[in-house]
Amino acid sequence: MNGFDAITIGGGPAGCAFAIELARMGLNVVLIEKSTGPNHKVCGEFLSEDSIFLLQFLDIDISASGATATTHLKITRSSTFAETRLPFQAAALSRRILDESLLERAVSSGVHVVRGEMAREIEAATTGVHVRTGRATYFARFATVATGKYVMPGIERPRGSIVGFKILLEPGIAQATALRGRVLLAAYKGGYQGLQMIEGRQASLCWIVDQRDARELRHNWAKHQLFLSQQSGSVADLLIDSRPLMARPISVAGLPFGYLRRRAPSDRIYAIGDQLGMIPSFAGDGIAIALGSGILAARALFEGCAPARFHHDMFRSLRPQFLLARPAHYLMTNPAAQTAGIGLLKLFPGLMRTLASATRFNTALLDQKRGNEQGNTAGVAASTDR
Ligand SMILES: Cc1cc2nc3c(=O)[nH]c(=O)nc-3n(C[C@H](O)[C@H](O)[C@H](O)COP(=O)(O)OP(=O)(O)OC[C@H]3O[C@@H](n4cnc5c(N)ncnc54)[C@H](O)[C@@H]3O)c2cc1C
Repeated sequence: MNGFDAITIGGGPAGCAFAIELARMGLNVVLIEKSTGPNHKVCGEFLSEDSIFLLQFLDIDISASGATATTHLKITRSSTFAETRLPFQAAALSRRILDESLLERAVSSGVHVVRGEMAREIEAATTGVHVRTGRATYFARFATVATGKYVMPGIERPRGSIVGFKILLEPGIAQATALRGRVLLAAYKGGYQGLQMIEGRQASLCWIVDQRDARELRHNWAKHQLFLSQQSGSVADLLIDSRPLMARPISVAGLPFGYLRRRAPSDRIYAIGDQLGMIPSFAGDGIAIALGSGILAARALFEGCAPARFHHDMFRSLRPQFLLARPAHYLMTNPAAQTAGIGLLKLFPGLMRTLASATRFNTALLDQKRGNEQGNTAGVAASTDR
């Protein structure tokens, strides 16, 4: 199948944002997504202010989809806790609904969306890129790899030792009321769990453990339930009074938290979202980075900015955020640091708000690029000439 300006592999936030933005600029895009329909993803479902802003920018109305407002953050370690009001607007919505809204928006923007096909091979040539699935070969001038937590064959990324799990629960009325508007982060040795209400009466519980612990716990919900209850009194109370809405937790392994790609995979391929960089999950900004990098890659392609330049610029702008998130992740998973850290946060709640703001995606990058776009008629002319 020929004639595309771009192929994007993966229909999560990054791939959809890229495809929507490029289609809105009049280019011909194909998006290849392996899932056949709505599905759950390992994610805490927390939408930061930047994610909300970027979704609005893509014309996605999260309130209409049932998103709930999140106003407070509570961090706990055993029985110690610190709580603060978030310094920005935030929300919660299941990825099952969010990702489908993005895919629907892609279709209505004119993107050629292919569902149920898995990209197995990507090959860059001098004139473009070939992507092979089990059923067809697609060709375009450029491609983006937006396969998120999953490695695309041929596009290397280090393998980490973290395993992420997620389950949806229906808590009792009292528990649901107590949790509404709050995101709870419970830290323990080697990991942490995040809990919050999403749309309807559902609570989303997402946690990370080291691969050694994951081998022990496997996909056995009873074992996980015991493990998670032992780590936090608040989670234990909720789990006693909750009904699991999934037969067992879903998981994803080998997560390289803190990894940030320095170079483009090839001079025809951009890497976006988690394939560009994987911020530790407690930062709650992975979705914003995915949406933002997708939009910026679309603009880069449109303006004739090569993948090497795009990656150079993205590395420079995301690096401070990643440099801060890495030690913060260490503190979040180290028992001694957790107790001392929560003590500090209790004394200085402003510190929690400063940290929460400092690990955010810089949406001003979009305006800078928009400014460049207006001044850069040469770039637009070059792209329309192709
Ligand atoms: C435990 C955990 C909790 C998190 N919690 C939060 C949170 O609360 N808030 C937040 O903002 N971020 C959170 N994140 C981060 C967030 O989930 C990611 O940063 C975000 O999903 C990245 O989006 P993406 O589009 O790059 O990838 P993904 O969301 O992973 O999407 C990739 C898509 O590509 C498809 N795909 C994969 N391989 C192929 C293939 N070969 N062919 C075709 N399709 C393919 C997949 O089916 C999927 O739809 C969390 C991460 C983890 C691990």
